[in-house]
Amino acid sequence: MVKGLTLVNTGSGKGKTTAALGVVARALGHDQKVAFIQFIKCQDTGESQFLSELARNRPERFCFSRHGQGFVGRNPSTADRELAEEGLRLARSLAEDYDLLVLDEINVVLSLGLLEPSEVAEFIQNRPEKLNLVLTGRGCPAKIIELADTVTEMKEIKHAFRAGIPARPGVDY
Ligand code: ATP
Ligand code: MG
Repeated sequence: MVKGLTLVNTGSGKGKTTAALGVVARALGHDQKVAFIQFIKCQDTGESQFLSELARNRPERFCFSRHGQGFVGRNPSTADRELAEEGLRLARSLAEDYDLLVLDEINVVLSLGLLEPSEVAEFIQNRPEKLNLVLTGRGCPAKIIELADTVTEMKEIKHAFRAGIPARPGVDY
């Protein structure tokens, strides 16, 4: 059996989630079984509409699940922590049956202290042999970077937002 890989997309430049969506497209193209588990975010976006529809139409191939309630401040609530735990529990329960799991914004969950890096590290280390993982979000902790096979730091050179151009549907969300 080919050993699964752990990919991390981190850094403050744009493209972490979009790159993860690219891996989803690739895996589905190879008839692999894919789950996209999203933390923190809860806004409707182009990708959330698309992934929900895909999950409705192809439940045997694709799972989409969201475990966030938007912005988390310096003092996370119990609900914030429970949602993060719930997302990780889902990842554990799907791991055996899937080829690819995306944990979108999990690095943000870790930087906010909603989950301990050791919990996610344990999941990475004890997952089924063949499972590929993609972890996204700014501020990936060193412990996770150490365990990953491929780590990409998105570096901002320019972002339209800085020139006063608001986030645009289809490009930014
Ligand atoms: P994307 O979802 O576009 O791939 P991302 O996953 O790398 O972005 P996040 O930190 O998850 O980045 O931010 C999500 C939202 O913030 C997206 O609408 C994205 O376009 C926007 N964004 C990302 N990086 C920046 C930046 N450096 N400045 C302003 N907005 C940004
Ligand atoms: Mg993102």
